[in-house]
Amino acid sequence: MDEKERLENIKNNLTIEQVTDLLITLGADPIQKDDLIIARTICHGGDSHKMYYYENTHLFRCYTECSDTFDIFELIVKVQTQGGGKYSLPQALTYVINFFNLETENDNFFKNDENSLQDWKILNRYEKTNEINDNKRIVEMKFFDDKILDYLPKPRILPWEEEGIKNEVIKYHRICYNPSSQAIVIPHYDKDNNLVGIRERTLIKENEIYGKYRPMYLNRIMYNHPLGFNLYNLNFSKENIQRTKKAIIFEGEKSPLLFASYFGQENDISVAVCGSNLSSYQVQLLLDLGVEEIVIAFDKQFQQRGDKEFLGWVKKLKDIDKKYNKYVTVSYMFDRQDILQYKSSPIDEGPDKFIQLYNQRFSLE
Ligand SMILES: [Zn+2]
Repeated sequence: MDEKERLENIKNNLTIEQVTDLLITLGADPIQKDDLIIARTICHGGDSHKMYYYENTHLFRCYTECSDTFDIFELIVKVQTQGGGKYSLPQALTYVINFFNLETENDNFFKNDENSLQDWKILNRYEKTNEINDNKRIVEMKFFDDKILDYLPKPRILPWEEEGIKNEVIKYHRICYNPSSQAIVIPHYDKDNNLVGIRERTLIKENEIYGKYRPMYLNRIMYNHPLGFNLYNLNFSKENIQRTKKAIIFEGEKSPLLFASYFGQENDISVAVCGSNLSSYQVQLLLDLGVEEIVIAFDKQFQQRGDKEFLGWVKKLKDIDKKYNKYVTVSYMFDRQDILQYKSSPIDEGPDKFIQLYNQRFSLE
């Protein structure tokens, strides 16, 4: 089998569930519909759900900025090179093999020597590079200098204050404003307080077609990061999580800010996945802190019980339990009494509703 065949072989044998899994970890927030996946445009750092994966061709297509078709390896290269980094196709292949723990027939093929680099030249469809290092690490988090935040204005964020987020919490989380893009700037730290990415919430209606939330691009630096390899707010809540052995998992960044506003920073046990999927990497981050219960507090993603969306949403929640209940108690804040609006987070409509849903949380089985 030559290299091209081998590559095609791996690609064509990935199941749609495996592709979904990888997209979750990359923060693409995939929605699977039969033989199709609709995901966030992580190919160019966008946030709208306009990147499609077709199971019959095993190819992705981005319907906005890229307007391009690409396979899973090229997608990983696109994700890893945003903001000017270098990442080669052999690295992407190693990434996929490590991610799925795929067995290889010929170990030599994956060695990082000159020969294998030569072999890659036959894949003339792909860009050549001579960097084939670091194939052990799946997570390629870059750290950014957070001095950038010192230079950005920090005005009162009135639309957020009106929703209930306190100004002191906004300051504590180092939220800023980017005048050039007219967007709210949300710094993302890893659990050790390294700045791993910055996301922006646009305040311009017309810009929402590219996604309400996008990575910040400033002074020719793209501050993107693979969202599934981090938990927003964990740097602020980790000690409380460690102490109480509980974590509340929200979807969006604003929910932990609301939680701290209502219940105090000293009681904050919340994190956000920044999407609607929980990756195993994110669960591991919590297990490392000794959590015994994870409370799933995802947005209410159905209009009516029993409708198609409801069934899909419930299946997703059940899958989380199936995957992790061996390691940790999984409980759900589930709106049985229909007190929340469609797409509301359990904390969006004030502390009373939140407490009610929290007290009524339950585990499956
Ligand atoms: Zn794209």
